[in-house]
Amino acid sequence: MATVILLPGRERPVIQRHPWIFSGAIAEVRGNPAPGAVVDVYAHDGSWLARGFWSSTSQLRVRLATWERTQLLDETWLHEAIARAITGREKWLHNPAIACRLVFSESDGIPGLIVDRYGCYLVIQLLTQAMATRADQVIKVLVDLLAPRGIYERSDAEVREKESLPPAVGLRWGEAPPRLPVTLITGLDQLASERRMFADLQTGQKTGIYLDQAINHLRVGAYCSDADTLDCFSYAGGFALAAARAGARQLTLIDASAEALALAADNLRLNDLSIPTELVEGDAFQILRQYRNEHRQFDVVILDPPKFVHQQSHLQRATRGYKDINLQALHLIRSGGILATFSCSGLVSADLFQKIIFGAAIDAGRDVQILERLTQAPDHPVLLTFPESEYLKGLICRVW
Ligand code: SAH
Repeated sequence: MATVILLPGRERPVIQRHPWIFSGAIAEVRGNPAPGAVVDVYAHDGSWLARGFWSSTSQLRVRLATWERTQLLDETWLHEAIARAITGREKWLHNPAIACRLVFSESDGIPGLIVDRYGCYLVIQLLTQAMATRADQVIKVLVDLLAPRGIYERSDAEVREKESLPPAVGLRWGEAPPRLPVTLITGLDQLASERRMFADLQTGQKTGIYLDQAINHLRVGAYCSDADTLDCFSYAGGFALAAARAGARQLTLIDASAEALALAADNLRLNDLSIPTELVEGDAFQILRQYRNEHRQFDVVILDPPKFVHQQSHLQRATRGYKDINLQALHLIRSGGILATFSCSGLVSADLFQKIIFGAAIDAGRDVQILERLTQAPDHPVLLTFPESEYLKGLICRVW
């Protein structure tokens, strides 16, 4: 097995079980590890620290997966690690139609592997060289543990580029998933808040549905009774559906994607919700400005933009983007109304996000109170030793 020796003084995060080792912390690599190979990591004084997977092209050279020297990171390890991740989600899985993330990469101790369950089908993302080279093992373990009807790969996320992996999309096992209705998880009373959504696993965004927002849809929906509600960056209308269920008076959905809006319309029908709904295709930045010129007002505005920051050097530009869209939204909210605003950019900390909303509130001349702080759904757990796994931030604010 190849070995990686750290520079002096760089062992502390490894001892504290942070799973990432960047190239800048490495003094020497002995042996010639293949892309995705298992490597041992040593401190500069020669003591064994941990074992993980090598990446030949990313600056993130090693992703650690065990701190036990007897653990070989072989197929048995993969089986046990996936089984543990599934056990942690058991309370949702008795529902045969549930959509739920089963494996969340580093947070579940399996760097680079995402597994989402949509009813009887699984969608996998293999985001590292280690997981891409173990695709067959991953599929075998999933079939053994879950006997799904089909497994579809959606490794079309941008992060694969850093690993020099081309996008990989297609059926990997069993039957190709049709467009199917699924039920989202809830943290609340299952029946009272159950919503069904169509999941298009082959061509939908991400792996089909933004599962990380499932609980937040309901939390925000709770403020939408009798409200003129604007769901901005709506995708398939997760927030709009929850708002409609909560008795919203009127819905406006904005998204740049016509397919997303068509899916949202289908989802409203699927849930037998027929309230006045306006579907607006276009650039939210422009449309919110236009609404301001038209003096349009809403009781609730929801902002769930896509990830604006993919690397540190884009942070300033992204900060301006978040501030601008929040400023525009604040102009459209009736006094006493609600702004529910999100950022899924991991590089924007909760603290920075709050400062951005503060800046927008000052510029808009509005008094803003934070009522609730939100994060990702519990099937996307945050690993204590890996704070980077907490990427989704939301604020529900009262605006005066
Ligand atoms: N709120 C959704 C997820 C939103 S993902 C949910 O809870 O399921 C972000 C969405 O923003 C995507 O659907 C994407 O099509 C849309 N989008 C990206 N850029 C946009 C823009 N400039 N204006 C409007 N929509 C945009």
